Amino acid sequence: MAQDNELFKKLVSHCKEYGFIFPSSEIYDGLSAVYDYGQYGVELKNNIKQYWWRSMVQYHENIVGIDAAILMHPKVWKASGHVDAFNDPLIDNKDSKIRYKADQLVEDYINKLYEKAEKEVEKAKKRFGDNFDEKLFRDTNEKVKKYIDEAKIITDKLVKLLEENNLAGLKKLIEELKIVCPVSGTCNWTDVRQFNLMFSTQLGSTAEDAMTIYLRPETAQGIYVNYLNILKTSRQKLPFGIAQIGKAFRNEIVARQFIFRMREFEQMEMQYFVKPGTEKEWFEYWKEQRMQWHLSLGIPKEKYRWHEHEKLAHYANAAVDIEYDFPFGFKELEGIHSRTDYDLKRHQEFSGKKMLYFDPDIQDSYIPYVVETSIGLDRTILAVLSHAFTEDTLSDGTTRVVLKIPDFLAPIKVAILPLVKKDGMNDYALNIFNDLKKYYLCQYDEKDSIGRRYRRQDAIGTPYCITVDGQTLEDNTVTIRERDSMLQDRIPVDNIRKYLHDKLNVI
Ligand code: ATP
Repeated sequence: MAQDNELFKKLVSHCKEYGFIFPSSEIYDGLSAVYDYGQYGVELKNNIKQYWWRSMVQYHENIVGIDAAILMHPKVWKASGHVDAFNDPLIDNKDSKIRYKADQLVEDYINKLYEKAEKEVEKAKKRFGDNFDEKLFRDTNEKVKKYIDEAKIITDKLVKLLEENNLAGLKKLIEELKIVCPVSGTCNWTDVRQFNLMFSTQLGSTAEDAMTIYLRPETAQGIYVNYLNILKTSRQKLPFGIAQIGKAFRNEIVARQFIFRMREFEQMEMQYFVKPGTEKEWFEYWKEQRMQWHLSLGIPKEKYRWHEHEKLAHYANAAVDIEYDFPFGFKELEGIHSRTDYDLKRHQEFSGKKMLYFDPDIQDSYIPYVVETSIGLDRTILAVLSHAFTEDTLSDGTTRVVLKIPDFLAPIKVAILPLVKKDGMNDYALNIFNDLKKYYLCQYDEKDSIGRRYRRQDAIGTPYCITVDGQTLEDNTVTIRERDSMLQDRIPVDNIRKYLHDKLNVI
């Protein structure tokens, strides 16, 4: 973990140094938990968005996309339950003055117990070698049983306290477990208070007619309130989905860990409307589909795991998260939720508009159930970057940092580099650039030594570098260097397009 923390720090500074991600308003010392995407970050982001949109909208004849406004009628958030219940229980340490999510402190404690149990298993594995019977060991080893039992008891207590909204009980549990602030090391806690995570603002030109509205904390509600419009205009029958990519805003209490938890972030959500009674089937279908999508990003399956929700929201009848092994541990990347007819029913109640679907198969009407997939775009970017970030030691002992991003996500696909800026090599290279730019996002670079330019392209993840050298001027051939192997081919200039077409895995 210490090593991963080191890696995480390097990744954060790499993102800044190479134009991927900058702290917002940096010249004014930044704005906490808000980030800007730079010239390469925005390309990576757009590529991920495009890939998600294709997988969800283009590849499904029964899913359509929308782009709803960020500002919505305040009743939306009353109906959705966000005004009354989109709260986090917060607690402050009186010595360090640092604020935490109270439930998170307990969850971290529980995770440590599971980690301790796993350590015992690992130790035993090493000790017993091939003869090790893991199941038997887990079932019978006293220490492992003790850690797991304790974790389960605390989990049950936490779930109950949260369900009952028992904030005093939550504080008592933190004290009983002797959970200390990692910074001050003390157990000197304030009371637990509820804190609504929505940002509010005023709509209207005069104080009298101003209305308090909210920046949307999720994109899903924009889909629900357009369900009738889509139903009327898209000619879809159940099951059908509505997808959306857009900004969401949450005034997060604990906003650390770079772009993992931001106050302004982007979600890619899809609500799948199904016939009541079929939702479990569709839930399983979307679980599988979404995991396949993650694996198709070129990230191995050990980096993902499922997290079944211990505490189901009152409106959900199934919920699971896909967690990713970030440099700071496994954390939520995407949620797949079976939300019943809760949201549509609430909007029907609050708006007075019937949210019914007429089912021609049974000649009857009902409110559809919904299975949702909800993924954080920024967290996906962090997953892709942290997996791609590699420090290579080369055969001559030097090192390089390379982002091993799949071709279809790489910000720049091809760099065109004159070996030196003279003898017409630069004009020759520019001609190649002007031809290729019609097909791929390319970069022309003539500054610094060729070695440094290769390093720069490696650091932003460019899959191919084309170099124009003295020989090019004589026989119209160029070298093409592949990022990961660093191997170079010499090919005729006329073959560049075909070569890239065959080798570059773009969508
Ligand atoms: P968490 O428990 O980590 O706060 P959540 O369960 O509140 O997340 P959802 O409301 O299910 O998250 O939102 C769907 C997805 O949106 C999450 O899986 C995550 O990828 C992303 N997301 C949520 N909050 C943030 C945030 N503050 N910054 C970046 N991404 C976020």
